[in-house]
Amino acid sequence: MITFDYIKPSANKAAIDAIMKNQNAMFIAGGTNLVDLMKRGITTPEKLVDINNLPLKGVNKSNNILSIGALTLNSEVAEHETVVKQFPLLSMALKAGASPQIRNMATVGGNMMQRTRCPYFYDTSMPCNKRAPGTGCGALHGYNRMHAIFGMSEQCIAVHPSDMCVALVALDAVVTVSGPKGERKIPFASFHRLPGDHPEKDNTLEKGELITSVEIKENNFSKHAYYLKVRDRASYAFALVSVAAALDIQNNIIHDARLAMGGVAHKPWRLKAAENILKGKPATEASFRLAAQMAMQGAKAFEYNAFKLKLAPNSIIEALTLASKA
Ligand code: SF4
Repeated sequence: MITFDYIKPSANKAAIDAIMKNQNAMFIAGGTNLVDLMKRGITTPEKLVDINNLPLKGVNKSNNILSIGALTLNSEVAEHETVVKQFPLLSMALKAGASPQIRNMATVGGNMMQRTRCPYFYDTSMPCNKRAPGTGCGALHGYNRMHAIFGMSEQCIAVHPSDMCVALVALDAVVTVSGPKGERKIPFASFHRLPGDHPEKDNTLEKGELITSVEIKENNFSKHAYYLKVRDRASYAFALVSVAAALDIQNNIIHDARLAMGGVAHKPWRLKAAENILKGKPATEASFRLAAQMAMQGAKAFEYNAFKLKLAPNSIIEALTLASKA
C-alpha cells in the first residue's frame, strides 16, 4: 500500500476544490474497488478525498422522478420500497451484483465509477493499455473468455462489470454531476465510454466532477421486468452475459420495450434496435427471437469467448420471456 494524504470535507464544493488542487487526488466513497486497486499498486493517488460526509444520501420520488443520492448504498437502493415496487429492474440488478457484504459498502456513484477491467489489468507482469497506456493488451491474444463481443477496439476488449448500470441504461437514467464549472446532467448511455484509442478512460467525467445523484423517470415497466445474470457461480461473480429486459404489454401487444446487456462491452450495452423491433409485436417467443437476432448484429468473438455468441441471444430470449410472464 502506498502512502497518501486524506481529507474528509463536509461540502461538495470543498471536495471538488480539493480534487482540483492536486492532479493525483481521487474521491473515495465505499472504496470497494479503489482500495483493492491501491493495495495492488495499480492506482496510486497522492490524496484521497473521502466524500462520505457530503449530503448525497437517500432515495426520493417526487414529480414522477426517482432521485437516488450518489452515496446511497447499493443494498439500500435494492431494498427501497419504491424501487422494489416501481423500478423492479433496478432492484433485481442490484441484488445480482457482487455479494451482500459489498452491497452494504458500495455506493451508487462508486458502482458507476468502478473500473472497466479484466484479470490482466490486475497482473502487473502483463501488458495492459488500460493500466499502462501504450503497453499493449494481454487479453487480445490471451485468455479472453470473459471479454467483449461488442464495441471493443484493438486497444482493449474488457467489459464493464456492473449489474446496476445495465438496469440504469435500460431505464434511461440521467446522472447529475457537480464540478468546477457548475452542475450538468449526463444521459446514462453517455456516461461510460467505449475504449477506442483511450482505454484508460472509463467514463466521460471531467477532472473534479463529482456524481451527486441519478434520476429515473416514472415508467410503465414496473409490471414486466427481469434481470437475468448468467455467471460461473451463483454469487460474487461477474456476468458472463446479463440482460436487463422490461416490457410495457397491453392486451398481449408490446407497447414499449427496454433491453440492455452486461458482460458484453466496455460499457453497459443498450439494444435500441432490438427494442424497436419489439414495439407493436405480440409478446411471444417468435418476437423475442427476432429481437435477439437483431441484438446480435455486429457481434464479434475472440478465441475463448465464442460461446457468448450463443449465450447472449439465448439469454435475451429467456429474459424477455421471464419479463413477459412476471
Ligand atoms: Fe487491459 Fe483492457 Fe487488455 Fe484487459 S482487455 S488487458 S483491461 S487493455
